[in-house]
Amino acid sequence: MDMDLLVIGGGSGGVRCARIAASLGANVTLVEEKEMGGTCVNLGCVPKKLLVMGSHASAQLEDARGFGWDTQAAPLDWSRLIANKDDEIRRLNGIYDGLLERAGVTIVRGRATVLDANTVSVNGEPLQAKHLLIATGSRPQDPPIVGIEHAISSDQAFHLDRRPDRVVMLGGGYIATEFAGIFHGFGAQVTQLYRGELFLRGFDADCRRVLAEEMRGAGVDLRFETNATAITQQGDGYTVTLTDGSALPCDLVMAATGRLPNTQGLGLADAGVTLSERGAVVVDERFQTSVPSIHALGDVIDTPQLTPVALAQGTRLAHHLFGDGSQSMRYDLIPTAIFSTPALSTVGLTEEAARAQHDNLHIYESRFTPMHHHLTGRKTKSYMKLVVDAATDRVLGCHMVGEHAPEIIQGLAVALECGATKAQFDATLGIHPTAAEEFVTMRSARDL
Ligand SMILES: Cc1cc2nc3c(=O)[nH]c(=O)nc-3n(C[C@H](O)[C@H](O)[C@H](O)COP(=O)(O)OP(=O)(O)OC[C@H]3O[C@@H](n4cnc5c(N)ncnc54)[C@H](O)[C@@H]3O)c2cc1C
Repeated sequence: MDMDLLVIGGGSGGVRCARIAASLGANVTLVEEKEMGGTCVNLGCVPKKLLVMGSHASAQLEDARGFGWDTQAAPLDWSRLIANKDDEIRRLNGIYDGLLERAGVTIVRGRATVLDANTVSVNGEPLQAKHLLIATGSRPQDPPIVGIEHAISSDQAFHLDRRPDRVVMLGGGYIATEFAGIFHGFGAQVTQLYRGELFLRGFDADCRRVLAEEMRGAGVDLRFETNATAITQQGDGYTVTLTDGSALPCDLVMAATGRLPNTQGLGLADAGVTLSERGAVVVDERFQTSVPSIHALGDVIDTPQLTPVALAQGTRLAHHLFGDGSQSMRYDLIPTAIFSTPALSTVGLTEEAARAQHDNLHIYESRFTPMHHHLTGRKTKSYMKLVVDAATDRVLGCHMVGEHAPEIIQGLAVALECGATKAQFDATLGIHPTAAEEFVTMRSARDL
């Protein structure tokens, strides 16, 4: 076999692993059925962030009045927004193709299926390699609701012909919450439904409550412990029937209620690869499946579904296979953000998780009006929290809801990676005047 590695999937994890493996001298081929870059570039992080930024423009125009600019509400050209976003995605697709080509990776276009431990079929042609990598990502999962075929998923949300006026969002995860903010920011009336008592399960409870308060304050209709039971078409629009029997008329229903690993029809089970009940590929800590020559990483395995996780896994697998293989993957300090409006960002343990692991905690909190909103008059407050182990003074978690939270938390993630203590946070000088300086000036722990 001439080929060392055959990668199925040109997304975050597949592209990274292919490039690094080629740079380590391996002969690599990558098969992709759609545009290069995968979910992150085409239907995830990047277009989502562009829409989030666009959705803030109307509030920024309003806020400018507080600084003396006589701005007026401006009409929105939705098709220009989508066309500009698509141009940017095409530019990134080209960059990804170029990265692979320059690394010496052979690109094959088409849908791959696995035939056996070393063979893949693409467009009816067999391709053989010493190692196969499954990096096929995930896809939206439809909730079991009558009429769900009338709802769109995040995949379609990026290509709507026009901005809907009334949106019903199904789901309480980060994608649902981000799109609720996007549509609301662009001027739609948004109702977000979630069956649990508070959205964003797994994030710090105080941050979840603060974000809910902020979103409600801005005019998003958040309804928890409420689910949709049916969606029916009414002319050009839809009616969503709720668990309390009431009905919500709208122009668009979007479901963002989880994602499933992309293993359907790949031939993995027939090739002897063990899958979990959800269809995720089961791997060991070196990303090896039950078939030693077949590996898997990214959204298709059961680890946090985030681009930096897939990228780090791709780098490590390439080194396991073709380098010294010394780096292992850790999942304990993954900084992450919800690009909601306002944003929520976090690194380390939530207060709840820290309580389960440590006897005594010190909790530091701050809630304040960001400086510029004293002039704009916008009723919004940022929230910050530090979770500290009382026994060692180590900072276990940093959490923030507010503008620029993801940019601020990224820096603090380095401090946590270095094992910073609260005393070291206190010894750090602030940058004044910023919101970020609050993280190094919180002096009084909450009374418990
Ligand atoms: C709406 C949304 C927003 C997101 N926002 C963020 C964010 O802000 N930050 C963040 O870190 N993560 C975010 N994510 C998650 C992130 O996009 C994924 O975790 C990441 O893309 C996973 O990378 P991957 O390589 O595992 O899979 P993917 O990037 O999904 O790549 C898989 C590739 O495999 C290809 N493929 C599948 N089957 C085959 C086949 N049989 N043959 C050939 N090719 C095939 C697909 O076409 C695809 O290109 C978001 C996801 C979504 C849906």
